[in-house]
Amino acid sequence: MKTKINPEFHQLNFDFILKYSEILMSCVEFKEIYCFNCKKTLGRYNEKYFSDLKMGEIIKANHSSHVHEGHDIVIRKITV
Ligand SMILES: [Zn+2]
Repeated sequence: MKTKINPEFHQLNFDFILKYSEILMSCVEFKEIYCFNCKKTLGRYNEKYFSDLKMGEIIKANHSSHVHEGHDIVIRKITV
């Protein structure tokens, strides 16, 4: 099978892939707050900007109802 590649398009496409992978690289790591009892994600936070301490504060401030009800909440790292 013969494939004809338009050099200009090829270049554009390559640039696009480079840009895309840059974006992926910059936000690949997330911290996810997950509640086992509710079986749902309560929030996702870019790991670059949120330390574990900050995550604790967020849970206390926004998801305290789960804590009060004795739910199992974990912070887990995810890759998007
Ligand atoms: Zn819950």
